[in-house]
Amino acid sequence: MIGILGGGQLGRMLALAAAKLGFRTHLYSDETESCGFNVATEATRAHFGDEEALARFAAGCDVVTFEFENVPDATAHFLADHVPVAPNPNALATAQDRFIEKSFVAGLGIATAPFRNVMTEKDAKEAFAALGGPAVLKTRRLGYDGKGQRIVRSAEDCASAFGDFGRVPAILEKFVDFAFEASVVAARGRDGSFAVFDPPKNEHENHILRRSIVPSPLSEEGVRECFDIARAIAEALDYVGVLGVELFIGRNGEIAVNEIAPRVHNSGHWTMEACVVSQFEQHIRAVAGWPLGSCERHSNAVMENIIGAEVEAWQALAGRHAGLHIYGKRVVRPGRKMGHITRLAPPTKA
Ligand code: AMP
Repeated sequence: MIGILGGGQLGRMLALAAAKLGFRTHLYSDETESCGFNVATEATRAHFGDEEALARFAAGCDVVTFEFENVPDATAHFLADHVPVAPNPNALATAQDRFIEKSFVAGLGIATAPFRNVMTEKDAKEAFAALGGPAVLKTRRLGYDGKGQRIVRSAEDCASAFGDFGRVPAILEKFVDFAFEASVVAARGRDGSFAVFDPPKNEHENHILRRSIVPSPLSEEGVRECFDIARAIAEALDYVGVLGVELFIGRNGEIAVNEIAPRVHNSGHWTMEACVVSQFEQHIRAVAGWPLGSCERHSNAVMENIIGAEVEAWQALAGRHAGLHIYGKRVVRPGRKMGHITRLAPPTKA
């Protein structure tokens, strides 16, 4: 029995991959509507601070994992006292806080955008003066899909954005004039084995991932560098499971890490159609202590998210030859990820 914290589409696709391998799953979510519950063996709806519910959940699971990274630290540590938890709670804590995360990555000798910690208005102004503009102010915690971040063009602008965010801890990053965005999705097993998927190019619209394309325009050397970055991060975190690393690729091919997602990643959905073993299956294999499968890609692929009301037109969007995934969310909201489509083409590069 594999316990999964979070009940969204990632939990849903993890539960489906687990079922394929003969495992049962128990999803735990605090949300009223969790599309993952429809395909799990068991489901618990309770708060992440409900220790009674957590203890019951842990007692019924052989291992617990996560489908989203904003699980409170205390919840992860509480569970780890009862049942093996993968990835480990420290990996989760590192990825939850942008300042800790970027400091960790920089400490490995891997490039990031230049950044400063911002705890006060004074810090905000000094950070802007040190980095220069334009820059991006981001809350340290709980940001996703562009929420809790703003581009700032002066020290005053930076201080007022900090005030608008409610004076919560933040970081200021230099704005990176990248050629394109990419990501690398990798798996690390309990025995330290490592497997990595081909890094896709990612295109965003309104701060939300629109599509992922493999192969990306990265050179062979660039791809190798992405693999090395993912491996260094996974090893330093003593990571077990799948992780995604979001990257900025500069005009001369230079690579900088934007952020670490300690979970399966939207930019890895194409692996369900284009690889023998998907990112979801790799994650289940890793947390179950099984050998990892091959990440080899047998086709070129373009994965496109179905966002908000677009889901109504799924037939027109997908056509007969596309891999279609609809997450079964009852409520359509603008910007909500409702499904995705993967189109394949013959491979041009291994
Ligand atoms: P994040 O929430 O950090 O993943 O940021 C969301 C998106 O905002 C990224 O995928 C980029 O498109 C953009 N972005 C974030 N940080 C920067 C930066 N330092 N420079 C330029 N664009 C950025």
